[in-house]
Amino acid sequence: MAEFDVDLFVIGGGSGGVRAARIAANYGAKVMVAEEYRMGGTCVIRGCVPKKLFVIGSHVHQEIEDAAGFGWSIGQVSFDWATLVANKDKEIARLEGAYTTNVEKSGARIVKTRAVLEDAHTIRLATGEKVTAKYILIATGGAPNHGPAVPGIEHVISSNEAFHLKELPKRIVIQGGGYIALEFAGIFAGYGSDVSVVYRGDNILRGFDEDVRKHVRTEMEKRGITIITGCTVAKIDKHGRDFTTHLSNGSSIASDQVMFAIGRHPNVRSLGLEAAGVAINPANGGIQVDGWSKTSVDNIYAVGDVTHRTNLTPVAIREGHAFADTVFGKRPVQVDHATIPTAVFSQPEVGTVGLTEEEARAQYSHVDIYKTDFRPIKATMSGRDTRVLMKLVVDGSSDRVLGCHIVGDAAAETIQAIAIAVKMKATKADFDATVALHPTAAEELVTMRTPTARHVRQAAE
Ligand code: FAD
Ligand code: NDP
Repeated sequence: MAEFDVDLFVIGGGSGGVRAARIAANYGAKVMVAEEYRMGGTCVIRGCVPKKLFVIGSHVHQEIEDAAGFGWSIGQVSFDWATLVANKDKEIARLEGAYTTNVEKSGARIVKTRAVLEDAHTIRLATGEKVTAKYILIATGGAPNHGPAVPGIEHVISSNEAFHLKELPKRIVIQGGGYIALEFAGIFAGYGSDVSVVYRGDNILRGFDEDVRKHVRTEMEKRGITIITGCTVAKIDKHGRDFTTHLSNGSSIASDQVMFAIGRHPNVRSLGLEAAGVAINPANGGIQVDGWSKTSVDNIYAVGDVTHRTNLTPVAIREGHAFADTVFGKRPVQVDHATIPTAVFSQPEVGTVGLTEEEARAQYSHVDIYKTDFRPIKATMSGRDTRVLMKLVVDGSSDRVLGCHIVGDAAAETIQAIAIAVKMKATKADFDATVALHPTAAEELVTMRTPTARHVRQAAE
């Protein structure tokens, strides 16, 4: 009789868990995956995918406005939120089915229930059943922070609910200045809502390049989004179907919805971690892991958002894959968390890879900046008041391109390709040697010849 019921038990059927389960099963392991909600996890069900569908749809209004300069005259335009949500739900259900089928095809078994640890080798299902496993992978992801317990917090929605609103809010207040707040600000504004973003710091997108932060804010404001910085939501009053949001600066905003997008926490609660001896990383509240994604217990691993390292889908997938290769494929692989490209699907979009100017200046003694800020060709005919930002951060000593930052149409698509060059340690001379592709916005990245700023630290500094 086998010592354990399964070789691998995966808790969580999201990006990281699904990839690990499939690859481990492909290597011949007997695998069981528990998912308490819907297969596909956050990214597929209430994250990247439905968000991107909403973003794509929200661009249409601007496209119609821009069309006039190109000779188009489009009659009465109308938009139906219910159709958008229903069609999005249909696509998400299709993807959920595809995820389920792919996992099952690999030979892994899915149990649609909550699972918690009873000890280092035993998992208890909500059905009462117990399963023993040689290895356990915790891939339980994360969830929205509800925020400080201000009066009226019970009226506040998170991104989870934003995907299922019965109607488009005419006016919405969104607290937060990060990925989700700005992406949803663009989505709602695109469909016609009056959007106010409330952010506690001096400018949105803390941690991004300073030029990017300024540029995005200016462009979002040009598109009619109100951005209020230096304050927080202090209280929310409900009157019938309307809300009054009181801010810490004494002002108030009337709206139909109030949303908080103030970060996410790893799903570690009531998981039985203590019973199994799995330690939490005190620095970030996620499960503590080493470079192999191994926890403090030898046979228990954790990947994705539950480790609170880099909370992005491709990272969770890579960590899950590397775990399966290492443990079941006899191919030890560690994930390199350096130079991960990322995009904020705000409007305009942000694409970024590598170091910001501020980070580079702190780490390198000679930093050259190549920056351009220009009117995109489309705006010359549409008449839209908008500008694109492109920036390269270069190590002046080695000539290596340390970072690239773009704000504008297709920034995400462009940065995915530029990330290859940055990851390969391309130099500014390599960029210069690349022939431009005309007429594009991205050609600016290979035609900027003179630094717009040079920062040389003196030896004594
Ligand atoms: P998840 O995908 O969250 O999967 C965890 C799964 O575990 C869930 O299905 C959950 O139901 C299940 N679970 C939890 N506890 C248990 C339990 N005890 N038993 C059984 N099942 C359990 N990333 C990008 O790269 N690009 C984007 O554009 C992007 N957009 C996003 C937009 C939004 C609105 C949000 C919220 C996130 C977005 N992300 C994006 C982040 C991305 O979704 C996550 O980084 C990714 O889903 C993490 O994958 P994971 O496998 O760690 O966890
Ligand atoms: P972010 O960390 O991006 O942003 C959180 C924002 O909320 C920050 O502006 C933060 O301010 C603010 N905040 C935090 N706590 C409070 C508080 N108590 N009161 C008021 N404001 C507060 O988190 P998100 O929720 O936007 O997204 C979660 C994660 O999901 C992202 O970090 C990212 O990893 C992932 N994601 C990725 C996407 C993509 O790849 N396109 C899209 C969506 C999500 P401050 O900066 O001052 O700390």
